[in-house]
Amino acid sequence: MYKNYQKQFADELKEIKDSGMWKEVGVMEGKQGPEIEIVDPLHGHHGGGRRLLNFCANNYLGLAVTDELAQAAIDGIKKYGFGEASVRFIVGTSTIHKDLEEEIAKFFGQEDAITYTSCFDANTGLFETILKEGDAIFSDELNHASIIDGVRLCKAERFRFKNGDMDDLERQLREFHDRVGNGTDHSPSADGSRPVPTRPSRLLIATDGVFSMDGITAKLKEICDLADKYGALVMVDDSHASGVLGKTGRGSIEQAGVIDRIDILTSTFGKALGGAGGGFTAGRKEIIEVLHQRSRTTLFSNALPPAIASAALYVLQNYDDKFIHLRQTLEENTAYFRSAMEKLGFHLGGDGKHPITPVMLGEEKLAVEMAAKLFEEGIYVRGFTYPVVPKGKARIRVQISAAHTKEQMDKTVAAFGKVGKEMGIIK
Ligand SMILES: *Cc1c(COP(=O)(O)O)cnc(C)c1O
Repeated sequence: MYKNYQKQFADELKEIKDSGMWKEVGVMEGKQGPEIEIVDPLHGHHGGGRRLLNFCANNYLGLAVTDELAQAAIDGIKKYGFGEASVRFIVGTSTIHKDLEEEIAKFFGQEDAITYTSCFDANTGLFETILKEGDAIFSDELNHASIIDGVRLCKAERFRFKNGDMDDLERQLREFHDRVGNGTDHSPSADGSRPVPTRPSRLLIATDGVFSMDGITAKLKEICDLADKYGALVMVDDSHASGVLGKTGRGSIEQAGVIDRIDILTSTFGKALGGAGGGFTAGRKEIIEVLHQRSRTTLFSNALPPAIASAALYVLQNYDDKFIHLRQTLEENTAYFRSAMEKLGFHLGGDGKHPITPVMLGEEKLAVEMAAKLFEEGIYVRGFTYPVVPKGKARIRVQISAAHTKEQMDKTVAAFGKVGKEMGIIK
């Protein structure tokens, strides 16, 4: 039977290649870190490992390859075993999960928390669990794919507001609010076309804390103000900011001073706070309990493996004493790299605070070609083109880590300078 389908799939693959959207996977030999060895190089090279400086990981604090975290993971395995072989509510909840959830809540200033095997799962298990027909979700257009997919699963009315555009958000909140109400209107429509709802409508504003392609932060204070005005809940996905932004690393919610104003926080242990995986939802205790009871990605998927739970707990428990200085280093590294790149004449995106440093190039071809040339210079960065970013806004996204040395950054800046001049991007 497959014979009939084979050509279809082959055609589809050819289409992807022809459109320039083919993703070539760089295969690493051994550990990732500021220096990596790519076994199967990009852009048509084959065979032979290649040592490169890695400037495209989310390893913001450099914790992903520390012996300390590996040991914390091993300790978890020794004490709790390799896995629970169960979902949480059957026989998958160990004390490590309870301890970690308590620590997450404490660390991020929330009432309670629930872990998931990824933040993707946290997001896809969130919206349909707490929203239904008659409710409304207001989602920033640049939100992460997992929020988009999560929103797709729920039957609430969907509104998409322009990135960071508070007027657009307010216009849509007002429209829904005037038409349906905000938690007080409990009546059927006049013509009887709308049945009596079992509860008043819920409104929820959902946003990334940091938008990953641009390295800019959401306007969380303004969003919370609008939520107050129109009676909406606020959900923030702080995957790129937890452990990175805010004076004490609590994320964009700390930087914006809204730790106690948001209702739902999702984030990952796969970036700054570890690097292996694992995610969570934190927030109001009733909402977290509803997730435990009803969220499909926890009810029908295995518990977070003990190794990861143990390492995540270790990071949170030791963050304030042992790791917070890395946040400072990260900030200094980011400032150092940005200023050197700007001096060369590159146009950088982002707000300058976040280690995501987009080198804006415009044309799709430039981004792909430049990444390939930098690869030849021993620098590993990735070009991002349409549809990941808007047409004509292609870029190379450089990501700075606390683990990068000055020498490594200097080498990368020099390579950007050389290639940039060759390509006529800078003078
Ligand atoms: C990386 C990321 C995720 C996915 O996190 P995982 O734990 O790897 O699934 C979700 N949301 C945002 C905003 C992210 O940047």
